[in-house]
Parts: sequence; C-alpha cells; structure tokens
Amino acid sequence: MSFYATAEHEKEKLQHFASPEGRDDLYQYNQKERRTVLEVLEDFPSVQMPFEWLVQLVPPLKKRAFSISSSPLAHPNQVHLTVNIVSWTTPFKRKRHGLCSTWLVALDPQESRGVVIPSWIHRGCLPPPPPSLPLILIGPGTGCAPFRAFIEQRAVQNTKGPTSPVLFFFGCRSQESDFLYEHFWLSHSQNHGVLSKEKGGGFFVAFSRDQPKKIYVQHKIREESARIWRLLNAGAAIYIAGSSTKMPTDVTSAVEDVIVKESGMSKESASRWLRALEKAGRFNTEAWS
Ligand SMILES: Cc1cc2nc3c(=O)[nH]c(=O)nc-3n(C[C@H](O)[C@H](O)[C@H](O)COP(=O)(O)OP(=O)(O)OC[C@H]3O[C@@H](n4cnc5c(N)ncnc54)[C@H](O)[C@@H]3O)c2cc1C
Repeated sequence: MSFYATAEHEKEKLQHFASPEGRDDLYQYNQKERRTVLEVLEDFPSVQMPFEWLVQLVPPLKKRAFSISSSPLAHPNQVHLTVNIVSWTTPFKRKRHGLCSTWLVALDPQESRGVVIPSWIHRGCLPPPPPSLPLILIGPGTGCAPFRAFIEQRAVQNTKGPTSPVLFFFGCRSQESDFLYEHFWLSHSQNHGVLSKEKGGGFFVAFSRDQPKKIYVQHKIREESARIWRLLNAGAAIYIAGSSTKMPTDVTSAVEDVIVKESGMSKESASRWLRALEKAGRFNTEAWS
C-alpha cells in the first residue's frame, strides 16, 4: 500500500507498519481493532491502488461454521441454525459486528424473491448417537444448538420404539433474556418426554446472573452427581458443546468431581477414567471461540 500512497505522511505510516519496529503498532491498529479493508483504505485516502492489486490483496471470505440444530426426522429437508449475533467493542471503543451473523439476522424470510444462503454441510465432531445410547448433554448458550437436534431426533425415535435416557444441562445469563428454546426443553421434560423423570431423563438449567452468586452448568453437574454417575455406569456418553474459552475445562473438572464423589476414586484416576471414556468414543466435545 505504501508504494501507492501519494501523501508523504501516509506513506511513512504504512512503511512504519511494514517494518519490524512497527509490528506492535500494526497489531494494535489492525488485529486488535479488527479493521476491514475498506476502513484501512478510508484511513489512507491517498492510496490509489489498481483494482487488480486490490483483488489480490483482499483475502477470500472465510466460511463460518454453525451446528445443525434440527433433526432430519423431525424436519426432513430443513436445516435449523441457532446463531449468536456476534458483536463486541474494541480497545478503542469501536463497535464491531460479526459478518455472517449480522448478515443472517438482516435477511427477511418473507422476501418474495426468496432468500439464498450459500451453505456447505460437513460432518462435525459430535457423532450422532443411536437411540439405545444414554446421553449426558452439556450445552450452555448456543452450545445447545446440536442438542436441540439430538433431543428432537430422540423424541421421534421414542414414538417408534424404546430409547435411552437423556440428561441435558443448559446455561444462560437469565431466564428473562436468553433462555433459548425454553418451551422446547420444558415440554420435553413433561408428559413422558425424552427429558422427563419418568423416562429417566432430566433438564437442568443454570441462570448465571439471576442471583448475586453466579451459577453455571458445572454447579448443576455437581448437584446431580448421583444421577450422572448412575447413567455413566449404564454406558452413557457425554457430549459437550459451546464456548471454548473456559467452559469445556470447567465442565470436565466438574465431571471429574462427580466421579470422585460417587466412586471414591482419586481426581487423577477420575481424569484417567474420562480419558478412557474419550478413547471409547463416549466423551465428545465441540467448542468454538
Ligand atoms: C464446529 C463449530 C460449530 C459452531 N456452531 C455454532 C452455532 O451453532 N451457533 C453459533 O452462534 N456459533 C457457532 N459457532 C461459532 C461461529 O462459527 C463463529 O462465532 C463465527 O465466527 C460467527 O461468524 P460471524 O461472521 O458472525 O462473526 P465473525 O465476523 O467471524 O466474527 C467473529 C470473530 O470476531 C472476534 N470476536 C468476537 N467477539 C470478540 C470479542 N469480544 N473480542 C475480540 N474479538 C472478538 C473473534 O475473532 C471471532 O472469531 C461454531 C463454530 C464451530 C467451529
């Protein structure tokens, strides 16, 4: 870019960014602030770059991954997504928005010419469980997305034959603001639904901000230690989905505590026990940032 800058101060600034001494400043300006190509061109208006160069410099858009949150049995020929509309504030207090989620939320499903969403379907890290497999599902926030699909699928399977119990642990900030699919989970927890007590299942929700002391899914997991241990002994698989920041580590530690409490093993042995479960394909995680 500096080659095409005609204003001297812009050329100098761009050359500084490209130098080893300017590396930290470039990181602050570019990565930390998540500047777009358009914003950079607006910050350096004297840069008159030939269009062919610009096309070569701009990287192609990355694909965004979203978990399928509907069951093919319950909704044949449909794919439902559960999308968090990404937004955050940069260190210089600039409001940033996720590209794909912001685009998706602005689409109008009533659009008369129809809506086209370019999509590709890839196999994820969570193997679809057979109806006979007891399940312990842990999916706070949009981590509930794949588990909505699992529970819908099992509910349909349950109308055709016997299915194994499901425990589902969900977490969000508050019951009022972000209790995703509230009616769906609660209805499957009643009337012999797949999450109901009668079916050996359970739905446990942690509202982190609805009381002075924060409560997360890992607290609910520890509270339900006896039921979790019983289901693990019945051959259950554990599935975890959601934010990769701290959640999978905290949840794994809570499950280890459950094993320690209920079996009398040491924490190290509980950790080895879980690793063996993972090797056997019965401990699966899909986490994202
Ligand atoms: C296998 C898999 C399954 C997924 N399933 C789902 C799902 O079901 N639902 C769902 O909502 N998401 C899901 N995700 C996450 C989703 O793919 C990302 O959040 C995606 O980047 C959103 O696209 P976007 O274009 O809206 O945001 P982008 O334009 O890609 O912006 C998101 C990026 O912005 C940055 N960013 C975001 N917040 C901050 C912050 N506070 N501070 C600094 N930087 C920040 C991060 O680099 C982040 O990667 C999944 C990811 C994977 C890998």
